[in-house]
Amino acid sequence: MPALPRCAIPRRDAILIAMSVTLNILDVTTKPALQGLGKDQLKELVRTLNEPAFRATQLFSAIYARRLDSFESITDLPKSLREKLSAEYRISPVTIANVFESSDATRRYLFDIEGSQQIESVWIPEEHRDTICISSQAGCPLACDFCMTGVIGLKRNLSAGEIVGQVIAVLNQVYGSGVEPKHGVNIVLMGMGEPLLNYDAVMAAVRLLADPAGIGISQRRITLSTAGVLPGIYDLAKENVRPEWPSRYPTRVFLRSGGPVRRYPRSWKYPVRRLSH
Ligand code: SF4
Repeated sequence: MPALPRCAIPRRDAILIAMSVTLNILDVTTKPALQGLGKDQLKELVRTLNEPAFRATQLFSAIYARRLDSFESITDLPKSLREKLSAEYRISPVTIANVFESSDATRRYLFDIEGSQQIESVWIPEEHRDTICISSQAGCPLACDFCMTGVIGLKRNLSAGEIVGQVIAVLNQVYGSGVEPKHGVNIVLMGMGEPLLNYDAVMAAVRLLADPAGIGISQRRITLSTAGVLPGIYDLAKENVRPEWPSRYPTRVFLRSGGPVRRYPRSWKYPVRRLSH
């Protein structure tokens, strides 16, 4: 089993802050975001705009494969369509509020999201790979006693767009909009929140992350970390996320215990001995 990457949690000992740069002012727009929409949803969107279906393929590629962050930069779309989209939609539902860089070059990203909430991601560069640790919820309803996020409580679930948006924003901030990362990127769902308590949005995001025509991160590189939500683990085991994904590379699941069961909330109802079977 590969070693768990260093990540956003535990937070008390989180990253040494060496640099803090405000990159963006909070985007208060509430226009719907296109990140998070799948191919069928984009087809439906272009249909409502009286555009041919192939525009959906162009949009999917622009948003996910090319990671373009403005409608103006999608120059393969006609100007009239770009203007229409820009008037009614935004591309990303997440806005970088701050970046904190540690002495080992790890960066912690703070994002503003709708509803005056904030979430975190962590970018961990290594010699032969990068790892991006992303959040699945704003806050968390659990209360693992080693984690500060549990103290906040659950504010809300993230949408699929807010989950993939973290990855796209970090890659664009590190490498530049649409620039290919210099080596493999690992994704770990180990930031704020319990991913299996936001199952549908997390799985929609995983499909977008792993789609070869989209962000194109191999499923082998996507790891879901859970406190041990047993029904979600059973659902995940049955998941046929994408038929073309080789079954020998299931999305990996790690339990977050990292220690004795007493580190879980006292009310935890899924005994660790059951989780290990
Ligand atoms: S499930 Fe994760 S985010 Fe939630 S309290 Fe436990 S360690 Fe923290």
